[in-house]
Amino acid sequence: MTVHERNISASIDPVKLDRLAEVAIKVGLKLEPGQDLLLTAPTAALPLVRKIAEHAYRAGAGLVTPMLSDEAVTLSRYRFGQDLSFDRAAGWLYEGMAKAFAGNTARLAIVGDNPMLLSGEDPAKVARASKANSIAYRPALEKITGFDVNWNIIAYPSASWAKQVFPGDEEDVAVAKLADAIFKASRVDHADAIAAWGKHNAVLRERTEWLNGQRFSALHYSGPGTDLTIGLADGHEWQGGASTARNGITCNANIPTEEVFTTPHARRVDGHVVSTKPLSYQGSLIDGIAVKFEQGRIVEARARRGEEVLNKVLDTDEGARRLGEVALVPHSSPISKSGLLFFNTLFDENAACHIALGQCYSKCFVDGATLTPEQIAVQGGNKSFIHIDWMIGSDQTDIDGIDAGGRLVPVFRNGEWA
Ligand code: ZN
Ligand code: ZN
Repeated sequence: MTVHERNISASIDPVKLDRLAEVAIKVGLKLEPGQDLLLTAPTAALPLVRKIAEHAYRAGAGLVTPMLSDEAVTLSRYRFGQDLSFDRAAGWLYEGMAKAFAGNTARLAIVGDNPMLLSGEDPAKVARASKANSIAYRPALEKITGFDVNWNIIAYPSASWAKQVFPGDEEDVAVAKLADAIFKASRVDHADAIAAWGKHNAVLRERTEWLNGQRFSALHYSGPGTDLTIGLADGHEWQGGASTARNGITCNANIPTEEVFTTPHARRVDGHVVSTKPLSYQGSLIDGIAVKFEQGRIVEARARRGEEVLNKVLDTDEGARRLGEVALVPHSSPISKSGLLFFNTLFDENAACHIALGQCYSKCFVDGATLTPEQIAVQGGNKSFIHIDWMIGSDQTDIDGIDAGGRLVPVFRNGEWA
């Protein structure tokens, strides 16, 4: 066991792992001296958790509080938990998290769980547990989607995840390959990763400034199986790369990130769209999605694989059938070029243009920080317990912007910026 574990961490470059921790603190969070940090991670990611703590304290952190989850503990619930367990959630803990964010604690999430962990468990129990958790998590999640504090998500190449991405390889080889892919996508394969992020953020800023200057009222998508018009929310603002939280700190919430994104109008989406990559959702794979929108609402949904799961997702609540995000990613993005399916949204959403069902981000509005939830709804922002990104872009995607006067402006041609 010990030898085995030593082998696994030996396949992860310690210099790049250290750089990833440094980038998370200095770019992802821009943690301020004196600021507390709440950190969640799977137990497999402990080597990165320890590096994060080191860089956080070196940067002057007040208090770093880690919270770990464990795959074996999660599975025990499904194997041995009583039926009543599946409607329970740690609401008290999430209330505490919300309280911490209200007190300006920064939030860092390390992802790295086996994406197929629950694929063999009872789907009804998975759905109940997920719903109970979503409801209980709401007070904390609202502070994150509302961007009250600086937050960041990064990834750690755990063995169980690596084996899903590289099923044909031995565990240590799979971990080494996933580690390389994560480091490259997170731009820590550069010696000066902080400078590389500065450059990348400048490119993304140029894109968002152009889009914000155009003031499009809608985007029209065409491609094989797709003819879709997505109205944009009134007073929407394009975001991408670094952005400023309500506490005044400018951070990069996602590492990696290649997207520029904004809020679509929840009641102004019409036409047909198909998915271009599989979607990994809570241990299930949903592939070959084809949906029809009328006045913002999905009125027909099919999938070649996982249709039952898809329809269950759409029935979560009223907002689950409407869009909360529209994002542009060129087909030549580094993650797309890797050709890998990561089974994780943090990576897969950066491989292609995508849309998200469910909750919108209030920061994607002009002066979003000052808007009430009611004002956001009036301007077309969607509300839901879910936020699920799925890919609709390919090298055959054309997108035109439509301004208030009906003028068409090329935005994407053949999957690239026009
Ligand atoms: Zn996105
Ligand atoms: Zn999203």
